[in-house]
Amino acid sequence: MGKKHPGIKKNDKVIVITGKEKGKIGAVLKVDPEKGRVVVEKVNVVKKHARPGPTTAQGGIIEKEAPLHMSNVMIVCNKCTEATRIGVRILEDGSKVRVCRKCNEPIDE
Ligand SMILES: [Zn+2]
Repeated sequence: MGKKHPGIKKNDKVIVITGKEKGKIGAVLKVDPEKGRVVVEKVNVVKKHARPGPTTAQGGIIEKEAPLHMSNVMIVCNKCTEATRIGVRILEDGSKVRVCRKCNEPIDE
C-alpha cells in the first residue's frame, strides 16, 4: 500500500489551489482517504435534482458539495494563515502531531 502520510482531516481549513474553485477557502466536511478525495464546505457546489423523499419532501434542486482531489487543496494554517503543507513532529511520548511546515506550529490544538 501507499506510504502513510499526515493528511487532511475533517474540520481542517483548506484553500483550493487549482481549478475553477481556486482561492476558495472552506472547512473540510468529509475525507475519503481511499479515493484521496475531500469534500469542502461551499466549494465545488453542484446542483442536483432531488426526488421527493424523507429529507427532501418537495424534491426539486438541492445544492451539494462535490468531492475534490486532495492534491487540489492545501491546509491553511491558523497561526500564520498561510497555505501550507503538513509536517509531522514526534513528541517525547512517541505521539505524532501535525505541524505547519511554514511556521512549525502545531495544526491541531
Ligand atoms: Zn503556520
